[in-house]
Amino acid sequence: MGSQRVELGFVESAAAWRLRSEQFPCKVGGRPAWLGEAALPGPEKLRCGVCGRPCAFLLQLYAPSPARPDAFHRSLFLFGCRQPACYRPAGPSPGCLRVFRNQLPRKNDTYSFDPPPEEPPLEEPPSVSLQLKCGAKLCRVCGCLGPKTCSKCHKVHYCSKDHQLLDWKAGHKASCMQPDKPNVMIPDHNFLFPEYEIVREPEEADSSSVSERENEDLEKNEESTFADNTYETSESLDENFLEAMAKHETQDDKFFQKFKEKISLEPEQVIRYCRDGEGPIWISGENIPEETDIPNCLCGGKRVFEFQVMPQLLNHLKVDSLGESIDWGTLAIYTCADSCNFGSQYTEEFIWKQNISSSA
Ligand SMILES: [Zn+2]
Ligand SMILES: [Zn+2]
Ligand SMILES: [Zn+2]
Ligand SMILES: [Zn+2]
Repeated sequence: MGSQRVELGFVESAAAWRLRSEQFPCKVGGRPAWLGEAALPGPEKLRCGVCGRPCAFLLQLYAPSPARPDAFHRSLFLFGCRQPACYRPAGPSPGCLRVFRNQLPRKNDTYSFDPPPEEPPLEEPPSVSLQLKCGAKLCRVCGCLGPKTCSKCHKVHYCSKDHQLLDWKAGHKASCMQPDKPNVMIPDHNFLFPEYEIVREPEEADSSSVSERENEDLEKNEESTFADNTYETSESLDENFLEAMAKHETQDDKFFQKFKEKISLEPEQVIRYCRDGEGPIWISGENIPEETDIPNCLCGGKRVFEFQVMPQLLNHLKVDSLGESIDWGTLAIYTCADSCNFGSQYTEEFIWKQNISSSA
């Protein structure tokens, strides 16, 4: 424990086939690439706890647990509300964010026993699939379970009245009564987050010692090249991000300084993954959970830190608006240490949200 390497996640654009369920992707935005098909989280579980609207799929990580045969495949799914105001509260399980864990043994009814092909399929499959292999229908707007059906045409499915209304206005009103024109084209409902692949790389071991190195080098003037390099790297940090940070600098300077140093060598990182390792890096001194603030899993076992979502991801979500935007300092995700398994269902896990500063 504590010695595991941190893995960093970066966003990249990717061909649609790479982001499908059969490829066990790590991805941001678009529709969820569900892993198990049994007991998907229903609409009531994906509702924002603040405003009551359906949450949008934010990201998923493929994170198998090799020690457990029933978690040969294992993915974590994160959902978030689209309303900026819902993101104000910090701390435990903010209602605007939900995380679920799902896992499957290697031998299962949905996926091949062998690893997925690394080559693109000869024919690019349709980019949006609104039906699981088992037959369950998915909502046309968000890609989550769609138990509701349009009562006129009975051809399209929705998770909720909210999404039925959104789709009605976006074009289903016109296509509903044209039985020969099935709803092949899905309009842009302006609900999904932009889609990317998340690629993972181990963090360079020395990125944490930047400041020590810098100090040493300042003492020995003749060897100041390291310090110069470090400085250049910090300057390449995203400007908007730095500006937003600067606005919030208060008594949290020390935490923020450390946060900035830690990410300065890889300023584009959107995910830091280290299961049961050294824990998250906090962006501010406010609202840091004690161990007792992290509730146990439903199985009674301990939850451990698994990964954190960095504020840089916000730059890729196109959530900037003139008024308030969706916002966080960092999101720390804690999961069952045992990866317990209640009949392959989607198990809700725990999020701790830290804001950049609570003074706003
Ligand atoms: Zn909300
Ligand atoms: Zn929906
Ligand atoms: Zn209809
Ligand atoms: Zn558990």
